[in-house]
Amino acid sequence: MLKAPIFYYHSIGNIGPETLSADIFKEHLTLIKDAGFTPLTVSELIALDVNDCGNYVALTFDDGLLDNYEIAAPILQEYGYKATFFVIPGFDNITRWVNPTTSQWSDDAKPGFTIPFPSMQQQHRRELVEMGMEIGSHSMTHPKLNKIAESQLHREIIDSKLMLEDQLGQSVTSFCYPKGRYNNTVLKYIKKAGYESAYTTMPGYYRANTPRYQCGRFLVESPELFRKVLNWLSNRHHWSQGLCSAIRPGLKLKNYYT
Ligand SMILES: [Zn+2]
Repeated sequence: MLKAPIFYYHSIGNIGPETLSADIFKEHLTLIKDAGFTPLTVSELIALDVNDCGNYVALTFDDGLLDNYEIAAPILQEYGYKATFFVIPGFDNITRWVNPTTSQWSDDAKPGFTIPFPSMQQQHRRELVEMGMEIGSHSMTHPKLNKIAESQLHREIIDSKLMLEDQLGQSVTSFCYPKGRYNNTVLKYIKKAGYESAYTTMPGYYRANTPRYQCGRFLVESPELFRKVLNWLSNRHHWSQGLCSAIRPGLKLKNYYT
């Protein structure tokens, strides 16, 4: 039966504490290559036959940071790999900032937040599509969707999809919950918008019976842990929720602006 890990990243190869080095990212890709896995976009993954027993993996990037385009995408191309980029179209003119002391993120320039993380623009997203990458929506302005008024959900979930589709000239069928937050009302809007799948920040493999709007993903930095998550797909390692919980502290679930 189909079973595949979906990994997620934020900044790649930038400066400061809140970025994964390009070298470690390349180590991840080399592990995928050595293990014989095929990277797919999430849309390709969820379209597979449920009885497919191939070794697949999906790589996703949250927040539409410019370094995803400038640094991660060329590395992916070197390996011939596809990935999915969950972007925030309302943030095109926003530079986010990191405080190197606290590792906190801010959407505004303010004292102590000294490391800039500019956002991708329309043309970058279009180029990613031309490379064979998938663009998904990560909402219009990245709020916690379970904390905002229902009247705002239309703009965040539906309008962000329409805006990206208008810019890219193709369907946008994948959504990623900002900071992993959602509730039943949010799920209702995801369905109404016509998304085919949506992604959380909780660890868990994608399987044939995974609810399409609550797909789990792994946030992993260490290549050793990355290798373990990949290897648990083999018959030698029976993956279970218990094991997943056991590795959760290593997944750095909270220290990223997801
Ligand atoms: Zn995010």
